[in-house]
Amino acid sequence: WDKPLYSMLDVAAEAYPNRNALIFQNTRITYKTLRERAELFAGALRRMGLEPGQRVAVMLPNLPQTVIAFWGVIKAGAVVVMTNPLYMEKELLENMQDSGAEHMILLDLLWPRVAALRDRLPLRNFIVTNVGDALSFPLNWLYRFKQARQSGESIPYDNKNVFEWKTFCKGAQRHTEPIADPAHDPVMLQYTGGTTGQPKGVILTHANLGTNCRQVLDIINVTAETHHTFISLLPFFHVYGLTTGLIIPMALAATSLPLPRYVPQDVLRVITRHKATIFPGAPSVYISLLQQKDLARYDLKSIKICVSGSAPLPREIFRRFQEVTGAAILEGYGLTEASPITHINPLGRQGQKENSIGMPLPGTDARIVDMEGGSLTLPPGKMGELVIQGPQVMEGYWRRPDETASALRNGWLYTGDLATMDEDGYFYIVDRKKDMVLVGGYNVYPREVDEVLLEHPKIVEAVTVGISDDVRGEVLKAYVVPCPGESLGKADIVAWCRSKLAAYKVPRLVEFREELPKTIVGKVLRRVLREEEERKSD
Ligand code: ATP
Repeated sequence: WDKPLYSMLDVAAEAYPNRNALIFQNTRITYKTLRERAELFAGALRRMGLEPGQRVAVMLPNLPQTVIAFWGVIKAGAVVVMTNPLYMEKELLENMQDSGAEHMILLDLLWPRVAALRDRLPLRNFIVTNVGDALSFPLNWLYRFKQARQSGESIPYDNKNVFEWKTFCKGAQRHTEPIADPAHDPVMLQYTGGTTGQPKGVILTHANLGTNCRQVLDIINVTAETHHTFISLLPFFHVYGLTTGLIIPMALAATSLPLPRYVPQDVLRVITRHKATIFPGAPSVYISLLQQKDLARYDLKSIKICVSGSAPLPREIFRRFQEVTGAAILEGYGLTEASPITHINPLGRQGQKENSIGMPLPGTDARIVDMEGGSLTLPPGKMGELVIQGPQVMEGYWRRPDETASALRNGWLYTGDLATMDEDGYFYIVDRKKDMVLVGGYNVYPREVDEVLLEHPKIVEAVTVGISDDVRGEVLKAYVVPCPGESLGKADIVAWCRSKLAAYKVPRLVEFREELPKTIVGKVLRRVLREEEERKSD
């Protein structure tokens, strides 16, 4: 892939101008209109003073404006920094100071939070939008009017550097100039998910993201000739939600159905109403949908493909969700540093294997190396660290030379994940290196214990972490969420695990909870649980 990422939108708008690129509530935006609006937005950004290569923070939930802003910033030759709209002061400050973003597109509701920090942020210009702006189409004028009034009243935009979305593009020229050097120009500064620590900025080029999109489409064998509809509920500010809900749909001239907030009933309703065909999700999403009591009222049979990534998909959930939808479930694996996808468990060719993340994508090389030095390639069946090579791998982290040097060694990306490969070249994630627990001299991979707990009929969610112990070094602690109305005791959990696991893998400590702390894409924050425990013992 040596074209600008934006060319995807050009191709889709030329081949399918009247297909809907986006449907949000009652608003429909065709590919022709999306391209016009993105180019107009790019023109307005340039008129405002944006220069190519500058960083632009997009701090929005999933809305049509997010998609317009994303393509507009790219068309203007700048670098997108997708920013979590849930960030509070400290996180926002860190994110903006680290990225050095000069401009920001944000939701009006977030303005007070941003305005309060203004003196300490590198940001110079702000473009403020509201949910109502997404609906600025004939039938919705009344709704828009109401929304605009409600939000406008309480927020003073006190400065000439604050622009309102509604008027920002007025009188601007469409910006249609090509992008300078797509193979080398960064197009995004994408922050990692922050599961193991502070999010790190990853520099991704047009070529990184464009290639990854092609690699995925080649393997899942889906083309633009069939009109697909994606339910886009994973947040666009996370790399997985961005690629599967925004970039890949555009490459397929598909319709994306953005949902700004995860509300299970909305997801089910929107799938049923618009007959969504592709459902990119995460294990936590599938778990929560399966818990909906009125699930049977909705028609999910339109779904052809469910994609699961970002965290291990428990076998039990895989089976149950497949039963409900009848869809193919493809588990994939990736990380922000690889734009993000490197493996998919394929349907065709040799077929799917249970519990596997599949094989590397075309053009991607993956190996298992020893956990210590990382220079020895291990044979099939041996567990070690997964390393990746391919055109989707990042240039490096932003302003973190030491971390770049430890992640990129001899042309390989060290993922920090422990995995094995079988004789057929299928890969299996065992756990994160950082989550491995050492109990009395034995290595325990908490994911194995989690899987056993999840098979228990009275457990909805469960996660195990290592807790420091004076005698054994570490012991396992299980955090368990029982099914609603069910009661379980520690003895039940221990007996269940004893019947299925070696004694040293059985959790010594058990805590029951109503929910588990998670990242925005639903990964359990083990480090938060560990920190809580450390505070208790201080
Ligand atoms: P940080 O790097 O900031 O700690 P993060 O690891 O969540 O956060 P991401 O790039 O969002 O950053 O996530 C990549 C990680 O997600 C992988 O390294 C892996 O641990 C996990 N992951 C992704 N897909 C799968 C999968 N199918 N099975 C198991 N783990 C997965």
